[in-house]
Amino acid sequence: MATDALRGGIDLGGTKIQAIVANAEHQVLGQARRPTPSEGGPPDVIAAIAEALQEAAQAADVAPDTLSGIGVGAPGAIDDDAGTLARATNLAGWSTAYPLAHELSERFGGATVRLGNDVQVATDAEFTLGAAREFSSLLGVFWGTGVGGGIVLNGQPWLGRGAAGEIGHIPVRHRGLQCPCGRMGCMEAYAGRRAMEARARKAHEDGEKTSLFKIMEEKGRDRLTSGIWARALERGDELAEQLIDDAVDALGSAIAAACNVLDPEAIIIGGGLGVRFGEPYAQRITDAMMPHLFHDDDPPAVRVAELGDLGGALGAALQVKSS
Ligand SMILES: [Zn+2]
Repeated sequence: MATDALRGGIDLGGTKIQAIVANAEHQVLGQARRPTPSEGGPPDVIAAIAEALQEAAQAADVAPDTLSGIGVGAPGAIDDDAGTLARATNLAGWSTAYPLAHELSERFGGATVRLGNDVQVATDAEFTLGAAREFSSLLGVFWGTGVGGGIVLNGQPWLGRGAAGEIGHIPVRHRGLQCPCGRMGCMEAYAGRRAMEARARKAHEDGEKTSLFKIMEEKGRDRLTSGIWARALERGDELAEQLIDDAVDALGSAIAAACNVLDPEAIIIGGGLGVRFGEPYAQRITDAMMPHLFHDDDPPAVRVAELGDLGGALGAALQVKSS
């Protein structure tokens, strides 16, 4: 196999960097993961990306400078032509446009670097390789720290003017809770993991009983991960159940709103919480969607993302076309 068929894929998230090396058939030959630096700025993040990709290349038994291209899926404002990333609010010190592509390319023997939105490339991966292979239009809903969305229409990603897919910020409640984005009543204010944690902390401080923070301590974590929510639900924790019920309702409303406008063939539910909770919650979200769906006699298929943790990195690598 010619090494020019090998490509790198980077899923750059707020908490972790996932790197893979894949071949032309999209098989993952090596992978590595690093925590995203929580301090510093773009040079620190780029150094961590490079380390993760070098480790993935090592695991794949290939020299890092033989990769034909590297794709990066990143949060924030991406200009793929200029090779810059800006306004990545989940990344420390990354506000103004920074030449991510150029700097990464220099570290990997001048490899072509393509940049894309993290959620859109994860949606593209499910479309091309995962749960939505049989469809030509879909809405990807990534339920995690926030709630991101990606759109494919007639087989093509729909980016709008660059900001399409922000399903987490569809308003689901008039004068509702404040969203981490600052607006009121967004779906993410009810369904995003960060927002749910803030609600849980407030309720806990106000004296409501919950095992959420005890489980967090037992697991030695400092935030309420998907696994902690799942454990609390298993234990029948009432506060966790109530907050998750709210999240499911908000997801159902926002997905129905998007379906009423776009009428996609399929909805793919991914993200840390979406994948962790799996099929039973995909069904619950469907049930919450149905009352708001205008054409409720022909609902879209609702499926759980198939590519799991590597979907983002696989989608990032897909941006590198065969030469
Ligand atoms: Zn919002």
